[in-house]
Amino acid sequence: MSQIIDGKMVAESMKASIAKEVQELVASGKRAPHLVAILVGNNGASETYVANKVKSCEELGFASTLLRFDPSISEAELLQAVIEVNNNPEMDGLIVQLPLPNHINPDRVMETIHPSKDVDGFHPINIGRMAKGLPAYISATPQGVLDLLAYYKIETAGKHCVVVGRSQIVGLPMSILMQRNHPQGNCTVTLTHSRTANLEEMCQQADIIIAALGKPEFITAAHVKPGAVVIDVGLTRVEDASKKSGFALKGDVDFDSVFPICSYITPVPKGVGPMTIVSLMKNTLLAAKGVIYPKN
Ligand code: NAP
Repeated sequence: MSQIIDGKMVAESMKASIAKEVQELVASGKRAPHLVAILVGNNGASETYVANKVKSCEELGFASTLLRFDPSISEAELLQAVIEVNNNPEMDGLIVQLPLPNHINPDRVMETIHPSKDVDGFHPINIGRMAKGLPAYISATPQGVLDLLAYYKIETAGKHCVVVGRSQIVGLPMSILMQRNHPQGNCTVTLTHSRTANLEEMCQQADIIIAALGKPEFITAAHVKPGAVVIDVGLTRVEDASKKSGFALKGDVDFDSVFPICSYITPVPKGVGPMTIVSLMKNTLLAAKGVIYPKN
């Protein structure tokens, strides 16, 4: 029997426990965790993502600050804004919403965020620490996938995990995490990408497929071994005249053909998506408590 992994339900239950912890923190006389978001320009999707993060902060009892900048801001000015947040002891976590305007180098911005405030887990120090198995902020979407595997008690040790996509924010960290010596790890991992020659055969050998390529419904039943676990990270807006919004959200997996043959599958929406914000909140709580990088 195939089972749908209910990311929305898991996310709600994790949010409730985070909110409870924040209440206890505040009741003990400490201040609430404080997340700062930097948004440059007026990209519609970025506005929505940042608004959702601010809303989650309100729901969970976090303080939040949204710093908005005109797209004409210079790189030097933006780096200065990051440094000011780094130096503010009342601010625990900082995210800079991507994409940035073309004249700003996103790597330079990410590397300017202090690792102790890098709750998106994009700083090379956090990525390096994660790779070494040291405490680190783990980027939100891969952490959300691990939490789903843990919640559903899906055995990963000794399994062959095929990750499709090698992006810095999803595929690459996912592949590192799945091979770690960890309860949600110990897989033999194959990391695939657009130059992989025989993707379909690779996927057919997988006990766990994690699809993060951004190509709607690319992974079909032909890629999936019966009984495999299928995690769909993809999230693409495709035109759909039947929807009021004019678009539908599609994952990278052709749900209808894959569902009958897999053991577990994450739907889109309400699969991995809701977990991403929860992971960000979890990282911000860790930052406020000084768990990964002790506070002075
Ligand atoms: P990305 O930066 O565009 O990376 C896509 C990766 O997929 C690249 O490594 C690319 O290979 C690989 N790829 C592209 N076409 C392929 C093909 N035909 N066969 C095999 N590999 C292929 O994307 P991303 O940021 O990782 O995001 C991936 C998807 O996840 C998107 O739909 C995005 O919206 C979604 N996403 C969802 C969440 C969430 O919260 N649910 C969060 C983040 C991202 P090359 O490296 O060779 O180009």
